Amino acid sequence: MEKQSKKIIILGSTGSVGRQTVDVANSYSITVDGIAAYQNIACLEEQIRMLSPRYCAVLNEEAAKDLTVRTADTNTQILSGPQGLLHMIEESDADMAFNSIMGRAGLEPTLAAIHRGMDIALANKETLVCAGELVMQAAKENNVKILPVDSEHSAIFQCLLSGKREEVKHLLLTASGGPFLGRKKDELCGITKEQALKHPTWSMGQKISIDSATMMNKGFEIIEACHLFGVSADKVEVVVHRESVIHSMVEFTDGCVMAQMGVPDMRSCVRYALFYPDRCDYQGEGLNLAALGKLTFYAPDEETFTLLPLARQAYVAGGLLPCVLNAANEAAVDLFLHDKIGFTDIFDIVTRAVQTYPNQKAPTLAQIMQADQQVREAVKEG
Ligand code: MG
Repeated sequence: MEKQSKKIIILGSTGSVGRQTVDVANSYSITVDGIAAYQNIACLEEQIRMLSPRYCAVLNEEAAKDLTVRTADTNTQILSGPQGLLHMIEESDADMAFNSIMGRAGLEPTLAAIHRGMDIALANKETLVCAGELVMQAAKENNVKILPVDSEHSAIFQCLLSGKREEVKHLLLTASGGPFLGRKKDELCGITKEQALKHPTWSMGQKISIDSATMMNKGFEIIEACHLFGVSADKVEVVVHRESVIHSMVEFTDGCVMAQMGVPDMRSCVRYALFYPDRCDYQGEGLNLAALGKLTFYAPDEETFTLLPLARQAYVAGGLLPCVLNAANEAAVDLFLHDKIGFTDIFDIVTRAVQTYPNQKAPTLAQIMQADQQVREAVKEG
């Protein structure tokens, strides 16, 4: 506990990972200088009373007004709208921004925090999918670290400590396979939201649970790994590992494979990122391998879960296509969660968007935002 002297801000503090980060920060007495979320003010009020941050940014302006009234007796300054969030990042003297905002909305805050010189604990993979080149370049220029919070990438980050970058042969991303592992394409029709939201091993937010059921999530994670670790897509392999105990692996040129294992709990990834380069003391339940008995592995079924190879193709093509992939998926998942389309429509919509969008090499941030907007609107209009 004495090791920790970091000051952080938590963006997306009311989401699944955000709440777990608040828990970890609270139990290890980490100073939280600011929190931010879209509009869940009941949760934000609780967090303000628990952490006493200097700032709290609320994206929805009406909600910000309500929260200002509700927390008038505290010393926390409530900021409002996207400008309020950027102002908080500008004003804060935190060492690290923990970004667990869901979706493309996390991109601008990530870039703002990088420019402010904060290290980034990144639980927002869409940021790297849409604009990985720009984000990694900005991080390099500003000399800030990007610490992955996604369990697979946290695992790979740790495994990479046992060799040099040029000694890496493959990154092996493990995948739980989601709730529909083993089903064929024609068996995916008629799947309901309730079925799709039931993840076998991880407890997560709605959007990522659907991404996990379609395996789009694993496709995004291939792209995320390429950016974070500077490898080409052909060096990233996916292996289905039902138990989610091995969080991912790295194969080195001498044939040795390093694996990082643990209980499937996002808090362990959160702790690693918050305490890096140290390791914290954790008194909770550890891994009981004898109780598990065995670990299993399978090749992914890319003929059924076609978004996995599609993500690889989009990354290799580059330009705007990874952004298009993400935008179409965010819009399609939103429609599915509102009962507007069926489960397999997600696959069709995302595939069509990637195959038909006029690509452009080396896009600027403005061009990425524009493509994002166009694709979302096109999907919404059907
Ligand atoms: Mg993951």
